[in-house]
Amino acid sequence: MSSIRCLLKKNLKTCLNVNTRSVLDIFSSRAVSSGNFVVTEPLNFINGHRVECKDACEQFQLEEPATGDVICNMDGSGQRDVDEAVRCAKEAQLSWRATSGFERSKIILKAANLLAKRKEEMARIEVYDTGKPIWEARADVQTAIDSLEYFGGIASALCGQHITLPSGSFGYTRREPLGVIGAIGAWNFPIQMAGWKSAPALACGNAVVYKPSQFAPLSTLFLGEVFQESGLPPGLYNVIQGGAYTGQLLTSHEDIAKVTFTGSVQTGAKVMKSCADGIKYVTLELGGKSPLILFDDCDLESAVNATMGANYLSQGQVCSNATRVFIHENIYNKMITRLIPRVKSIVPGDPHHEDTQTGPMINTAQAEKVLGFIERAKKEGAEVLCGGELVTMENTALKGSYISPCIIRASDEMEISREEVFGPVMNVYSFQTEEEVLMRGNNTDFGLAAGVFTRDLNRAHRIAAKLEAGNCFINNFNVYPVELPFGGYKKSGIGKENGTQTIEYFTQLKSVYVEANPVEKII
Ligand code: NAD
Repeated sequence: MSSIRCLLKKNLKTCLNVNTRSVLDIFSSRAVSSGNFVVTEPLNFINGHRVECKDACEQFQLEEPATGDVICNMDGSGQRDVDEAVRCAKEAQLSWRATSGFERSKIILKAANLLAKRKEEMARIEVYDTGKPIWEARADVQTAIDSLEYFGGIASALCGQHITLPSGSFGYTRREPLGVIGAIGAWNFPIQMAGWKSAPALACGNAVVYKPSQFAPLSTLFLGEVFQESGLPPGLYNVIQGGAYTGQLLTSHEDIAKVTFTGSVQTGAKVMKSCADGIKYVTLELGGKSPLILFDDCDLESAVNATMGANYLSQGQVCSNATRVFIHENIYNKMITRLIPRVKSIVPGDPHHEDTQTGPMINTAQAEKVLGFIERAKKEGAEVLCGGELVTMENTALKGSYISPCIIRASDEMEISREEVFGPVMNVYSFQTEEEVLMRGNNTDFGLAAGVFTRDLNRAHRIAAKLEAGNCFINNFNVYPVELPFGGYKKSGIGKENGTQTIEYFTQLKSVYVEANPVEKII
C-alpha cells in the first residue's frame, strides 16, 4: 500500500509532477486558499524519480499554513532510503565530476531558464508550503533563479593556478569537487535555500542529497523536476523527506563529504558535532537577533520603509531580521509615530491574494512560541505598542495561525531582546551616543546581520566596520544580491553562501608538483 495517503478533497486532484497537468492551470483561476490542495505523489525524489519510502521511520502530517488543512501524510526517510539516495548520488557524481565546467554550466543555465518559465507554479507551491504572500514567494523563486544563473555562469570559469618553480619545475592547483553534499534546509525560505545550496554544489561538480524541513517539503521536489527537465543526469539532485532523525542519518553518512545546513543554532551545533565525528566540511547558516541603528540625521521615510521590510516579511520568520531597532532619542517619537500606523495597516490575509501583506505563521506551535515570548515580555515590563495577538479569520477557510504584527518597547536585558523570536515582533529602544549603541547592538551571541541609517558617510563606514555581523547594511536592510557573500558571525554560522567565495565551500584544492629535472640522490 502506498505510504503516501492521498487526501483527495472535493474534485481537485493535483500532483507535483511534470507528467501531470500543471498546477498553474488549476491555480490561475482560483487563487484562494480553499483547503483543496492535496499531494498525491510520493515525496522522495531519488535518481530522477518520485519514490516512496522503503524504510519509513516517522510519519508527519503536512499542514497547509493558511488553512491548517492536511495536505498529505508524509513518511520520514529511514536508513535504507538515505543509503539509496547517497548511493545514487555517489554514482552519478563520478561522471558529473568528469564533465567540463562549460557542460555543467549549460545544464544549470537551462534549469534557471526553465524555473523562470515556471516561476508562477513554483511560487504557488511555495505559498502552500510556507503561507507567505504570493508576491513574496515570487521574489524567493527569483533568488533561486539568480543563484542558478550566477553559479551556472561561474561553472565554466572554474580553474586552478599555474605556479612557476626553480629550474623549470612548476606546480599547479586543481579545484576539485568534494563529492556528495548533504544539504538540510529550514522551512521559511525553502526554494531559496534549495537554489542557494544546490546551484553552487552542482556547478562545482558535486551531487546533492537534499533534506528539506518536514514543515515545507514541496518546493525542493519541484526543483528536482526542473533539474530533470533541464537534462541534469539522474542522481545528481535527490530529495529525501523527514525530520531530525533523517537529518542525522544524512549528516553521519560515511559517503557524505560535506554538509550545508540552514536552521537553528541548537540544531546547527548537533550537525557540527556529527560532521566533526566524520571529519566533514560543514557550512552553517543559523539564527539571528540583528540590530538596526537609526541616527537622527537619517532619511526618516527610507528608515521607516527599511525597518518595516526588516521585520514583517514572511510573517517575521526571517533569520536576518532587524528585530532590535535602536532609534536615536531625538527622532524616537517621530519614528514611533510613523511606524505604528504602518504596522497596524498590515492585516493578515489569504497568502494567495495579491494584496495580502502578511499570511499565517508556519504552524500553531510556532505561533504559540511567538505569543509566549510576547506574554513573558509583558510580565518583564515591556510595553506592547501595537499588535501581538492571534487573529481569527471569520467565515473563511483560513484556519491557520495568524498573528497581528507587533512593536514592543523593550529593554536590553529582557528575554525578548536576547532570544530569537522568529515571528512578526520588532523591539524598539532609544539611544543617545554612537559608542553606547554600538556596545548595545553588539551585545548578543548572534551575528547574522546589522544595519545603520545615517547621512554621515564617515560614521556609516565607521559603524559598519565595528558591527559584529557577517552582513551589514548602510541605509537599507535585508537586501541580498547573489553577488554578495551571505553568512553569519558568532553563533549565527560558519561559511558563506552566494558570491564567488562559495566556490571554496564546495570544492577542495589539490596541489600538483611537476619535476623538470632528474632527481638526485638524497640519502
Ligand atoms: P531547525 O533547526 O529546527 O531545523 C532545520 C532543519 O534541520 C530541518 O530540516 C530539520 O528537520 C533538521 N534537523 C533537526 N534536527 C536535526 C539533527 N539533529 N540533525 C540534522 N538535521 C536536523 O530550524 P527551523 O525551525 O526549521 O528553522 C528556523 C531556524 O532557521 C531559525 O533559527 C532561523 O533563524 C534559521 N534560519 C537561518 C537562515 C540563515 O541563512 N542563516 C535562514 C533561514 C532560517
